[in-house]
Parts: sequence; C-alpha cells; structure tokens
Amino acid sequence: MARYPATLTAANKQGYNEEKSFRGNKGVPRQSLPPLLAPLSLDLEESTLKIVVCMKETPSTEVPKSLGADMRLARNPGDTIINPFDEYTIEEGLRQQEKLGGDVVILTMGPGATTEPMRRALAMGATSGVLVSDTALAGSDAVATGRVLAAALKKLSADLVLFGQSSADAYGGIVPAITAEFMGVPLLSFATKVEVEGNAVTIEREADVGYTKATAPLPALVSIAKAINNNPRYPSMKGIMSAKKKPLDTWTLADLGLDAGTVGTGAAKERVTGATPVATQRRREIITGSAGAAQRIFDFLVENKVI
Ligand SMILES: Cc1cc2nc3c(=O)[nH]c(=O)nc-3n(C[C@H](O)[C@H](O)[C@H](O)COP(=O)(O)OP(=O)(O)OC[C@H]3O[C@@H](n4cnc5c(N)ncnc54)[C@H](O)[C@@H]3O)c2cc1C
Repeated sequence: MARYPATLTAANKQGYNEEKSFRGNKGVPRQSLPPLLAPLSLDLEESTLKIVVCMKETPSTEVPKSLGADMRLARNPGDTIINPFDEYTIEEGLRQQEKLGGDVVILTMGPGATTEPMRRALAMGATSGVLVSDTALAGSDAVATGRVLAAALKKLSADLVLFGQSSADAYGGIVPAITAEFMGVPLLSFATKVEVEGNAVTIEREADVGYTKATAPLPALVSIAKAINNNPRYPSMKGIMSAKKKPLDTWTLADLGLDAGTVGTGAAKERVTGATPVATQRRREIITGSAGAAQRIFDFLVENKVI
C-alpha cells in the first residue's frame, strides 16, 4: 500500500526519503533493492502494485461543439469518448501490468450520466473503475479537478499514477501537475518510456538533442506523451463481455471527505470570458474524367506532403 506525505511541506522537508522504504509489491523486480532493506518486506503488508490511470471523458471528436451562455461546453453524455490522449495512457498502464503484475484502475471525474468510455477502458483490460461524480462539481476548473483526483488517488492508495499529456477538449495540460502538488508526490512529465524497478519509476522524456532520464520513488505520478506507443489496443469481444462484470464504483465528494465549497463554479479561480471559432479553409479540387486522374491525385498528395 502506498504511503503519502501528509502535506506538500512535509514531503519537501523529508525529501521523499520516507517513500523509499520497500513496499513489497508483488511482481515488481526486487533485485535492485539494497540487500539490507529486502528482509524488511517480511514485516510489511504484502500488496500488489496499483496502477491508476486518470482518464477524462471528452466529447466525441465527430460531434459539433457549442458553448452555453456561461461559456461552458455543452456536453451530451451520450456523445462522450475516452480522451484520445488517454488511450495511450491506458495502453501504457496495461503494458506495465503485463510486465509487473498488479491492478490497473481507471479513475475519472465527470458528470456520471454515462459509463461508456469507462466500460471501453475496462474492455481494453483494466481491472476496475472509479467514477467521481457529484452535482457540486459542475463548473470545476483545473485546480478543483486536481484537488478531487488527488483525494481519490489517496483513497485508492495508488502506487503509480498515469495521466495523458492533455485533454482534447480543454487542452490545459496542467491537471497532472496540480494533482501532484495536492498529493505532495513527484510528477515525471511527458514520458516517452516508463520503467518501474524496485521502489522507483524512471522515465525518458524526448528533448531536442535526445532523451532526458528522470527518476522518482513510488508513489509517483507520470504524464504520458502520445509518442510512447502508437497503437492503443482495441477491446476484444472477450474483453467487452468481461467488462460488464468488472467492479465500477461511484464516489461523491462526501466519500472523499471534500467540502463542496472547494470545488465547482463558486471555487473556480479561472473564468472563460470568450471563445472564437477557428476559421477553417478547406482546399478542394474536383477532378473530372478519368484521364490523368490518378496522376493528379498522386501529385496532389505529394504537394500536400501526405506521401
Ligand atoms: C471556469 C471553468 C469551468 C469549467 N466547467 C466545467 C464543467 O462544468 N464541466 C466540465 O466537464 N468541465 C468544466 N471545465 C473544464 C474542466 O475544468 C477541465 O476540463 C479540467 O479542469 C481539466 O483540465 P483539462 O481538460 O485542461 O485537462 P488537462 O490538464 O489537459 O488533462 C491532462 C490529463 O489529466 C487527466 N484529467 C484531466 N481531467 C480529468 C478528469 N476530469 N478525470 C480524470 N482525469 C482527468 C487526464 O489524464 C488528462 O489526459 C471548466 C473549466 C473552467 C476553466
């Protein structure tokens, strides 16, 4: 079971040293542990590695978007999908589980009227899901989202938390950092490779001149860059059938011990004041007749750097 610093200040003072103690996760390679620490695992609670993937439900990319008078995106619960960036994260979580064992839990904060994206994530292979939903959450900004996710992650005793690089509807890209701040644990951002060994996680991050390596003790948060894997798996028929029976919990603010005054519209420090539609200009060319059509299509694709 993961242990978290009580506050960020406490975490800073301890320099995370407290987190370096061995937790005895099943399936995590132990050969890298300092020999003196290994026998201690006999006295500690044996627990499996708990990987939690934070997944946002976003409006389908195929549905036209509109903003209400309050500048909030009009959301139709029936038209939500897994945030496309989070599909890569779920895939990474499942690959880590295949290597290390343990559980993959999907965590999402949302209106709760639909569980379709959650069911799809479970059908991909995740073990269980948690949906945080409460009417008081409407109008929450990124800070409130981070506050809620942090409380849920602590309740879940997550060891390794994976986030997408951003959401495809709001593109804030800030929720992972805010969540880490509330939890007082490290965030390794924009990972293109993730490796868990012993009680630590190491990532590679793409830089201009190669790769930067960063490491942190568990529990830790990692945000995943889209480049990490190029094909999130499709749910299999067996996965779809078994997803229907997988545990799916719904938690309210009360379950997390959070005060409604710290979330929602009233607590939002950020306000959307305007929005401008993107001007799209589609270049169109109609080719009539078959003579030279194939060559013209080929030239067009080359001119537009498609091939
Ligand atoms: C004033 C204001 C009011 C808003 N009102 C609403 C509202 O009423 N309803 C609403 O749905 N949105 C609302 N939003 C948008 C919502 O607050 C943001 O979507 C949220 O803060 C997350 O920010 P982001 O989408 O930029 O996430 P990013 O920081 O871009 O997301 C990065 C990653 O964080 C994780 N993540 C982000 N959000 C969630 C989540 N909800 N659950 C699990 N994981 C997550 C995912 O892994 C994601 O890939 C509002 C925003 C503002 C500024």
